[in-house]
Amino acid sequence: MTSVSKRRVCYFYDSDVGAYQLAPGHPMKPHRVKMTHSLVVNYGMDKKMDVFVPTRATFREITKFHEDHYIDFLRRATPENLETFEKHKEMYGIWEDTPAFEGAYEFCSISAGGSIGAAKKLNGEADIGINWAGGLHHAKRGGASGFCYVNDIVLGILELLKTHNRVLYVDIDNHHGDGVEEAFYTTDRVMTCSFHKYGDEYFPGTGDIHDIGVGKGKYYSVNFPLRDGIDDDTFKSIFRPVITYIMNWYRPGAVVLQCGTDSLAGDRLGTANLSERGHGACAKFLRTFNVPMLLLGGGGYTPKNVSRAWCYETSVALGIELPQALPYNDYFEYFGPEYSIHVRPTNAENKNTREYLDKTTVHILENLRNISHAPSVQMQEVPVDHFSDEEDELEDDLDDRQSRVYHDTHIAYDNELDPSDDESRAHPANKRRRRNRRNHRNSPNPESKHERTTRHSNASATTTTNPKEDFGFKDERRDKETVIPFTAFSSKNETKSEK
Ligand SMILES: [Zn+2]
Repeated sequence: MTSVSKRRVCYFYDSDVGAYQLAPGHPMKPHRVKMTHSLVVNYGMDKKMDVFVPTRATFREITKFHEDHYIDFLRRATPENLETFEKHKEMYGIWEDTPAFEGAYEFCSISAGGSIGAAKKLNGEADIGINWAGGLHHAKRGGASGFCYVNDIVLGILELLKTHNRVLYVDIDNHHGDGVEEAFYTTDRVMTCSFHKYGDEYFPGTGDIHDIGVGKGKYYSVNFPLRDGIDDDTFKSIFRPVITYIMNWYRPGAVVLQCGTDSLAGDRLGTANLSERGHGACAKFLRTFNVPMLLLGGGGYTPKNVSRAWCYETSVALGIELPQALPYNDYFEYFGPEYSIHVRPTNAENKNTREYLDKTTVHILENLRNISHAPSVQMQEVPVDHFSDEEDELEDDLDDRQSRVYHDTHIAYDNELDPSDDESRAHPANKRRRRNRRNHRNSPNPESKHERTTRHSNASATTTTNPKEDFGFKDERRDKETVIPFTAFSSKNETKSEK
């Protein structure tokens, strides 16, 4: 392995994450994070970075963005009791392709805990943070959407805003990063930039080039709509000029890159045609700016390719070259016949013509000329911690670094992927997770609000308003007229038939 410039990398992983399952045959498989970890460990990369077990995010941390009553519902809902919440399940989006599942709240607290924990490390202790269990960009303040329940990205960005005046969010998932965009649509402190398939009723149906933010956030939301079949070279040709302009002009203090891998070639729900190199080139390019960076997961529905790409991107963070041949690992047979880290592009037609890409790039760069140079420096708004009570302090104490080296000797991997993954494996037994069972007969009370106290977070903060208001978090009850149904999440209309 050859090394380029070094960065301090911290990596968050909870070995429990792979055991959750949204539903039998569901395309979103948390297990892909465990597969990724197996590759990371067997390439020896855990020895080159600080490895942490994330402290699970608490209700209080999660509701710094989300509505209390929604999260209360999330932790009560189970597959068994959901029918008793007929009205609420639709209201909160926990139905159809985004179902209640055993341990959903725990899974979300692991995912969000990793992103919050990694963001904390970027406030001085590390240069790059990684949480492949995060990146769940569709979750909204008041409900679940598109396989996403808790928006760990928004929570991580709120953490970064405590230290950094401006945060850039970049999204290379094949789907529009709607939940993050919506959360920060009215502020210039967070710029969101999403490259995604748009049109043909592809989920979620938002992310038009003309959606640029409103009020103070006008021109701080960037959307690059794509057609089917974008490949490595053409993606690079649009990503670099747009990101270069933003980095040079917006000058973020930290960058969050959502590395959704459904933009890889051959993804079960994707339409793009990127190799792991083309996908990883985005992280590689952003890394050259030497700004603290948070790498998160996201979509990705062909698990062997998801793990290849996220493993490769871990090596990009570390600045090392990995051998193409995969080391022996717990899933070795899944990677045949080539047993390589390479994700092979297909011969799918690239429907993004040069003319279309150039025109769109020019349009976006023209919009970006309206942004102020390094805005919001004078404001120094800091998202206040509304909860600094003993409970939070106790949780901080528990957030001790777990610098243990993972060997993942607990092998329970066989049969954990199902036949729909094309690895022709038997379906896993649905692992039962521990869960603090509550009284599920009580319907969630939308009126219930935790008492909140405010305090001055530091001398420079001029206001102590609720961060939900500071960053334009708005109530986003779904508009039935415009929302594309969940079944459209699959370009191949697979998800419905599986259920
Ligand atoms: Zn996606």
